[in-house]
Amino acid sequence: MTATVLVAGGNGYIGSHVVVELAAAGFYPVVIDNLANSNPEATRRVTGIAGRDVPLLVGDVRDGAFLDEVFRAYPIDVVIHLAGLKAVGESVAKPLLYYDVNVGGAVGLFQAMDRHGAKRMVFSSSATVYGDPVTVPITEDFATGATNPYGRTKLMIEEVLSDLVASDPAWQAISLRYFNPVGAHDSALIGEDPNDIPNNLFPFIAQVAVGRREKLSVFGNDYATPDGTGVRDYIHVVDLARAHVRATQALLQGTIAGGAHMPINLGTGNGVSVLEAVHAWRRATNRPIPYEVVARRPGDVAACYANSELAEKLLDWRADFDLDAMCRDHWRWQSRNPQGYGEPG
Ligand code: NAD
Ligand code: UDP
Repeated sequence: MTATVLVAGGNGYIGSHVVVELAAAGFYPVVIDNLANSNPEATRRVTGIAGRDVPLLVGDVRDGAFLDEVFRAYPIDVVIHLAGLKAVGESVAKPLLYYDVNVGGAVGLFQAMDRHGAKRMVFSSSATVYGDPVTVPITEDFATGATNPYGRTKLMIEEVLSDLVASDPAWQAISLRYFNPVGAHDSALIGEDPNDIPNNLFPFIAQVAVGRREKLSVFGNDYATPDGTGVRDYIHVVDLARAHVRATQALLQGTIAGGAHMPINLGTGNGVSVLEAVHAWRRATNRPIPYEVVARRPGDVAACYANSELAEKLLDWRADFDLDAMCRDHWRWQSRNPQGYGEPG
């Protein structure tokens, strides 16, 4: 099946992997990105992996005139919306920025899609919409309730999509609720390239392993989990990217019908503790990964992992890569690119 897919935020960590998998499946991806949190080198490398040119159009999803140009230039069939800001702490400090970029950007993009009759949307949502879940594993019908402005932007955008599809059955929408994306493409050409000190566990451990940081701080070992440390559902970014291909196909084939907005969890279904992750990293790198247990991080939940049966049922998708593969591929990217993509240029 060939179709043109607009990937907003496609120059970023997850987006670059989505573009690779779309091209491998025979789609024509077109990337828009304002480079707020990424380096154009990413799409240059994606072009190398894909073996064909992938257009990178630099612009902002809040810029309607820019979007009109893009929709006039390309016959867009499906839009995958990954563009936005994602740092929880920053969202608490700068809520207006987050509501503007994330909610304003999404609404602007949906308006442009509406104007040009391109009404199929795959949206990057997050497990953060479940807040502090009452139990695990989490199914899509669990109560939602985000605990910070970033999470609320995701919930608001999901609600906008529900209202939109209810108002016009020509719209079809899937919100993919990602659990914890990690790892990198096995070429080691693309991967996550955090600007500052990483907040997330895998990029932080990767920088400890490569010698950029002295040791990991483990945020609490007194949670009600098997070893006391926080439990999450890490998912290989290539598995995640392939789910976007399946979602795109489901929209084009009408498996997800018009007038429906379907939230779908993307996780492996396996809960992994911080200490289990440290041990897996030691196996993958043969390096010691020193750590120290410190206080809990405010706002953290004890355990969060997915029931991913709906993705299997609706998208015929399940995660293939295990924790060792996630560490191996993340490490290969980090060790071959210790400074990420380097300076933008
Ligand atoms: P990322 O920052 O690497 O990618 C986002 C991309 O969007 C960047 O390339 C950035 O330059 C671009 N962008 C930001 N604002 C823009 C704007 N106004 N106009 C155009 N482009 C803009 O982040 P990522 O990890 O690849 O995340 C992609 C999406 O997935 C985000 O929406 C994020 O909230 C969501 N998500 C990520 C995670 C995670 O752990 N990485 C988890 C759940 C959900
Ligand atoms: N974590 C940690 N040290 C770090 C970063 C994270 O102990 O430097 C823990 C964190 O408390 C959580 C798990 O690792 O239990 C995953 O954290 P991450 O920020 O990657 O994901 P999130 O909590 O947003 O799901």
